[in-house]
Amino acid sequence: MESFYYFCNFVEITMEQRRNIAILGSTGSIGRQTLDIVSEYPTLFRPWLLTAHRSADLLIRQALEHRPAHVVIADEGCYEPVRDALADLPIAVHAGSATIAQLVTAPEVHTVVTAMVGYSGLESTIAAIGAGKDIALANKETLVVAGELITHMLAQSASHLYPVDSEHGAFYQCLMGERKQDVSKLILTASGGPFRTTPCERLATVKASDALKHPNWAMGAKITIDSATMMNKGFEMLEAKWLFGVEHERIEIVVHPQSIVHSMVEFVDGSVKAQLGLPDMHLPIRYALGLPTGRLATADRRMTIDDYALLTFERPDCEKFPLLTLAYTAAERGGNAACAMNAANEVAVAAFLRDEIGFLDIHRTVAATMQAITHIDNPTYDDLVDTNAEARQQAEHHIGHKF
Ligand code: MG
Repeated sequence: MESFYYFCNFVEITMEQRRNIAILGSTGSIGRQTLDIVSEYPTLFRPWLLTAHRSADLLIRQALEHRPAHVVIADEGCYEPVRDALADLPIAVHAGSATIAQLVTAPEVHTVVTAMVGYSGLESTIAAIGAGKDIALANKETLVVAGELITHMLAQSASHLYPVDSEHGAFYQCLMGERKQDVSKLILTASGGPFRTTPCERLATVKASDALKHPNWAMGAKITIDSATMMNKGFEMLEAKWLFGVEHERIEIVVHPQSIVHSMVEFVDGSVKAQLGLPDMHLPIRYALGLPTGRLATADRRMTIDDYALLTFERPDCEKFPLLTLAYTAAERGGNAACAMNAANEVAVAAFLRDEIGFLDIHRTVAATMQAITHIDNPTYDDLVDTNAEARQQAEHHIGHKF
């Protein structure tokens, strides 16, 4: 790995032509906020492709407003209403997730924003990297599941990966222009989620509706539960490891309930750089879409002294949130371990959201699945597909028998 500058410094380039943006998962929280940014700069960006899993009504409304060239509804059962609603417009309507992986490779596409949920983001991200597209990565599970494979592919591709996650956008900004050997550790901040101050014994009986009340960030259901269990921070540790080539032992998680410091980097001379901002995903999305050209000016609300009058930091409670420790275990084991962890977590979170299992059963399911899975040291893409399927089965089995 290169030991010099992390990223080339910003060069003065103007965007001479509008960039066509493919937004995968446009009806989700990040997708909707990405559309806000894309419409804030109509001379810079054009939404070329919008995709949704099965939110047909919202996809139709977005297509009518933003007029992309293509839309895809992944769930084929929802195809007809979308096709009919857009029949008179010059918008091609497709169905099925395989189409998404094809469309992202189209010559018209400049940047792919991966904002779909979970493992489903992997196939099209790999296709986009294969075609040399720039990626604004919001789907952190992609790097959790296949970090090694993606890193290897990126090294051989013209693609650049720009993080949309606020913490990784912060690392990116703190590392800009620094030498790799000067970094001593990454300090990943966590809000602590809705249960930061909830006593351990209460956690056995909390419901999905309690977990969905995040104190700072408005996000989709899956990531809000991941934030409540702190699995999200474990994922982000793995995401940082792959994005910045820093081993997991040098990534420290710190709870910062105000979510104003988006993350920090400590250097070998003891200096610490932090990036601050309001807890609003429009900021990191705007930063990622501005790369590599520069920052996109906005009239949005600024942080004021009242927003940062009190900033506090504390150590995470790994006994209360055992998924944090499991994420480090997955990083230590490497291979397909994090893929299995992610699959089990997706199954368990879905069951928790349906009120079928308790909050603490989420980490129990993940731990049991990680124990049961066959370890593969250097998994290929097909191995990861198999691991994902096997881990899902194991997790379902565990849930069916234990809870
Ligand atoms: Mg984040």
